Amino acid sequence: MKTIILYFLLILIFICESTNAAVVLIYHHVSNTTPKSTSISPEDFEAHLNYLETNEFTVIPLIELVELIRQNKPLPDKTVAITFDDAYRDVYESAYPILKKRNWPFTFFVNTDSVGKGKLFVTWDQLREMSKNGVTIANHSTSHNHMVRRNTEESVKDWRIRVEREISLAQDNIKQEIGFAPKIFAYPYGEYNSELKSILEKLGYISFTQQAGALSLIADKQILPRFPFGGSYTKLDDFILKANSVALPVTSIKFFTADRKPLITNSVKAGDKPFFEMQLSDELLIKKVNCYLNGEPMAIEAKEQSIKIAFKKPLEQGRTKVTCTAPSGIKGRHYWFTQLWLATDKHGEWKYTD
Ligand SMILES: [Zn+2]
Repeated sequence: MKTIILYFLLILIFICESTNAAVVLIYHHVSNTTPKSTSISPEDFEAHLNYLETNEFTVIPLIELVELIRQNKPLPDKTVAITFDDAYRDVYESAYPILKKRNWPFTFFVNTDSVGKGKLFVTWDQLREMSKNGVTIANHSTSHNHMVRRNTEESVKDWRIRVEREISLAQDNIKQEIGFAPKIFAYPYGEYNSELKSILEKLGYISFTQQAGALSLIADKQILPRFPFGGSYTKLDDFILKANSVALPVTSIKFFTADRKPLITNSVKAGDKPFFEMQLSDELLIKKVNCYLNGEPMAIEAKEQSIKIAFKKPLEQGRTKVTCTAPSGIKGRHYWFTQLWLATDKHGEWKYTD
């Protein structure tokens, strides 16, 4: 019996000290009248917050977690940062009062061109007021365009210049209006590729996706995960699983075409059937990982040092997210990791919208 208790204590200590357990939450709207796919009702949002409070989670500003990551310091367990994306006014009208009442900080990633535009969006005055009350205002581009997409006949060089300018303009605008702009960025639509990542790295940012998963010190600092909540992902049992997740210790990912040619990034043409390989720092975990696409299990091959994850069907144009989980050995706590894939149309063009 003593041995069993000691064993569980050791696992617990491992998880707590594995520094892979802080999570970042992302919401868009807290409202019953906004688009369902990106909204959570005020009641469900309160239920999330009540769970965190009752279960003694610490809610800290995202920039504090980012500072720990920059300094390679342990990420505390049971720690959560709350974020909102886009510059919607209902964040000011409904989410902000709810969080302010609890004195809980959050980060608002705003697309600066939309600020002050019509009734749907916040004003700079509202953002300044929020900023004085524990809200961090951060960069979500100026236009909220699909940043990885090159315009027709735009060279790679011109695309780079355009994208760099957009990131810097939004940053300058926030600094000017708010007085402070942290060096963090949230990709519009969560979309990134290796070139966009490298631009953000060069400019000195730490960047956030909408790939679900817990934070980890070994993760790529230009694609840090956040758990998105909205649409069919708002219920408390789903939230509890995610708030208690730990990061799958992925050390590297390689992308391949169906005929095993290496891809430089997570992007293919619609109709392709690529695969990817993940290496984990804990080899014992390799055989325990399962990956899913829209809830359906994917074809997985556990090798000695890595896992091969293949699509059963060709990719459709747009975004595709693969979710991988594994049991941690502690009830209610799962390793969690998500990989985004992007597919152009079959000609390699980004001509469609969404
Ligand atoms: Zn957005």
